[in-house]
Amino acid sequence: MLYKGSCKCNQWQVEISVTKPLSDLNPRICDCSYCKNNPSAIISDPNMVINLVGGEVMINKNGDQLANFYYCDRCDDLLAVGCNLTGQLRGAVNANLLRDTHQLGKPIKIQPQLLNTSEKLDRWGKLWGVLNGV
Ligand SMILES: [Zn+2]
Ligand SMILES: [Zn+2]
Repeated sequence: MLYKGSCKCNQWQVEISVTKPLSDLNPRICDCSYCKNNPSAIISDPNMVINLVGGEVMINKNGDQLANFYYCDRCDDLLAVGCNLTGQLRGAVNANLLRDTHQLGKPIKIQPQLLNTSEKLDRWGKLWGVLNGV
């Protein structure tokens, strides 16, 4: 299944391919201090492929410097969160970019700050899809 969206200035187009409907994907809302200051809801699935097509990104790192937060350099919309895991860029996409956000499952809160570095990388490896285009 393919779902599409874009950032608010339309510089970036996003297309995700997933093996399940959006209603089976729960946007995750992180409670770390970075995400509290930069609120977002992200979705991913190990079988998800995220294709981003656009211009320039601005990259921020969160508190522990592990993950990259990719933003549109024009409108500052968060595009995706990602990290290189075993040689491949993996990530989760900003759920609010999608046109069909109303179809998504119930948001869930996550507390990654309770995890140490290797637990986080392990979790992302099981949870994140493939991220292309940034
Ligand atoms: Zn934009
Ligand atoms: Zn966070």
